[in-house]
Amino acid sequence: MRQKKPVKTGIMKSKKTVCRKCVSCGSIIDKDLLLRIAKNREGVTRLDMTGFMEGRGAYICKSRKCLEKALDKNLLERSFRAGIRPEDKERLKKETEGLGQ
Ligand SMILES: [Zn+2]
Repeated sequence: MRQKKPVKTGIMKSKKTVCRKCVSCGSIIDKDLLLRIAKNREGVTRLDMTGFMEGRGAYICKSRKCLEKALDKNLLERSFRAGIRPEDKERLKKETEGLGQ
């Protein structure tokens, strides 16, 4: 079986705004303005400061309200459709503590 791959030729990489949805409030905004939380194949969930970490990503606004809600209401778990290890969650809480207003 051969998989069809979309072929993109002659398309210059343009600076298009990529929007993502905040798992907490549902706003769809420029992903540069969102925080990415990534869960990799080893099941480790962490704050992805680079935006290029492998694995499944979830996006959250850089606001205290959204971060706290996402962690308190397990919205990340819902987005990943998998649990987050307690130690990862603790680290995420610490890592996001100084972020957002
Ligand atoms: Zn939000």
